Amino acid sequence: MQPYFLESFGNPSSAHQSGQRTRAAVEHARKQLAALLRCMPREIVFTSGGTEADNLALTGVLQPYLLRNEAVHLLTTEMEHHAVLYAAQAMERQYHQLEVTYLRPTTEGVIDPAEFSAALRPHTRLISVMLANNETGAVQPLGKLARLAKQHDPRILVHTDAVQSAGKLPLDLGGEFKNVDLLSLSGHKMYAPQGMGALFVRKGVELAPMFYGGPHERQRRAGTENVPGIVGLGYAAELARVWLDGDGAATLTGLRDRLEQGLLAAIPGTQVNAAHTARTPNTTNLRCEGVEAEALLIALDLAGIAASFGAACQSGATEPSHVLLAMGLTPAEARSSLRLSLSRLTTDAEIDHALAIIPAVVERLRSLRP
Ligand code: PLP
Repeated sequence: MQPYFLESFGNPSSAHQSGQRTRAAVEHARKQLAALLRCMPREIVFTSGGTEADNLALTGVLQPYLLRNEAVHLLTTEMEHHAVLYAAQAMERQYHQLEVTYLRPTTEGVIDPAEFSAALRPHTRLISVMLANNETGAVQPLGKLARLAKQHDPRILVHTDAVQSAGKLPLDLGGEFKNVDLLSLSGHKMYAPQGMGALFVRKGVELAPMFYGGPHERQRRAGTENVPGIVGLGYAAELARVWLDGDGAATLTGLRDRLEQGLLAAIPGTQVNAAHTARTPNTTNLRCEGVEAEALLIALDLAGIAASFGAACQSGATEPSHVLLAMGLTPAEARSSLRLSLSRLTTDAEIDHALAIIPAVVERLRSLRP
């Protein structure tokens, strides 16, 4: 990325040589990302992140119907990231012609294909189901759901938020996911910089832009490109492809499972949320009875372990995770759930360290309970 900050900073839309150098870098990155997703480079639209990609997918597909005053149905799920949920809710408030169904996942955090089929309507035009959930790692039967949607009505477009899957699971938009029309990803979830993302838009899909301005990204995303960010995302995609082709995912799953099994054995009254479903290799979501995850998170941070807890609401007060509540956990159970994420760089020694620290911290917190 560095040369594109310091040496080559020509505008990729400019005709001069400096601009043409950065244009070539942007197009090279587009090819690298297309190779990871197994799609055509022209089907990639660079965005400022996963949030923008999700918003562009939903508004870009639905707005043309809504502006023509046509009744339209969006089928999505209760466990989506807020980039999808709040975009859907905002459009619902704005347009009375829009009907949205939010499907509830099972207690294992997955969407049931039979319930999904039953929720499809004659005027369903878009479905948006995430590929892997960000809090539990639960992987959805997306290939099957997309097929069911197309069988119901070939006019239905299928969007997936693959922010937590890109670079962690193999994604084949020409094979298993050939019925997926739009796919969002985010740079910082695949070792590229923050504030960078992309939306795959299958050739032929009509998409209204969110921003008005220049004709960038084939008229789908106006604005001068973030060249260093795009270069970083392209290179991260190439590294991800190599990692996925090797045994990286199996090694990571092994580390995650060792952490999980070790914690389950060492901490009584602990369960894994979505334990019995296919999950991304890097995520575990643990419920420790009688412990507030927020207090646990703070204590772990002091001990050098960075963990996370559901979602923090805008007011600063912590709300129980909407994902865990949708899976049927009680608010108290959701509040006692902690998410631990591993990375490609996580080592055996770090797992040993976590296994030495976390049980002791949980025991201490439990002993402080009134
Ligand atoms: N979708 C999912 C599933 C996410 O986990 C995130 C980020 O945490 C986003 C969307 C938003 O992506 P970004 O932070 O790049 O806007």
